[in-house]
Amino acid sequence: MSSYPQPTEERAQELISNYNKIYEKVQSLNPKTKLIAVSKFKPSSDIMALYSQGIRHFGENYVQELIQKSKELPQDINWHFIGGLQSGKTKDLSNKIQNLYSVETIDSLKKCKQLNNARERKEGDIINVFLQINTSGEEQKSGFLEINDIYEVIEYLKSEECKKLNLLGLMTIGSFNESTSQNEENQDFKKLVDLKNQLDEKFNLNLQLNMGMSNDFGQAIKQGSNWVRVGSSIFGARPTKEEI
Ligand SMILES: *Cc1c(COP(=O)(O)O)cnc(C)c1O
Repeated sequence: MSSYPQPTEERAQELISNYNKIYEKVQSLNPKTKLIAVSKFKPSSDIMALYSQGIRHFGENYVQELIQKSKELPQDINWHFIGGLQSGKTKDLSNKIQNLYSVETIDSLKKCKQLNNARERKEGDIINVFLQINTSGEEQKSGFLEINDIYEVIEYLKSEECKKLNLLGLMTIGSFNESTSQNEENQDFKKLVDLKNQLDEKFNLNLQLNMGMSNDFGQAIKQGSNWVRVGSSIFGARPTKEEI
């Protein structure tokens, strides 16, 4: 373990304390909900602080950063790719990260096929996937908008043709307005729940829900989320893109 990047004692305490606060809140709302620690832009030594406590699920947004971290960190980490998926990067994702647990941002049939085919050629383990749904309909957000495109990608994922991907569920981000509104229900999360129910019935599935971040994970769990992705509440504020 000493060969891995290590945090200072002070930083380790801070991270563990932050994580535990979030974890306790998640547990109190639903002990079955799983917490993904989103470590983008944060050093590998931060990840090791949590790793030393037995935490294994981490989320990253950038392929190059993820490849770098996966190389220098333990191989039993479960990496979740949660960033915008680019066609040109699906091959690297598949081939350069053996312990890739999931890709949560599948937003087209084309990229879905590329990811499967790259994995098939390299004979790696099966990758879990979530379909990203653009529930808020905002232009700057990725994700499926059209129901027929969703049907088509599910049919592909269920087919013999697709051997290396396992459809785990649906992911959404939702709008900032919904995440900060005082409404009883987040309407974007509700859309994801309704879609899950519809797809479960049509395709005989039991899709998991992946929604909720630092601002709104409590609400997401109340609305049934199986996974939450929490970054800044654990690791602290991130530098903005311009500062990097
Ligand atoms: C960065 C990011 C997160 C974590 O966001 P925080 O608000 O820092 O908790 C979650 N999901 C996605 C898709 C992200 O890009």
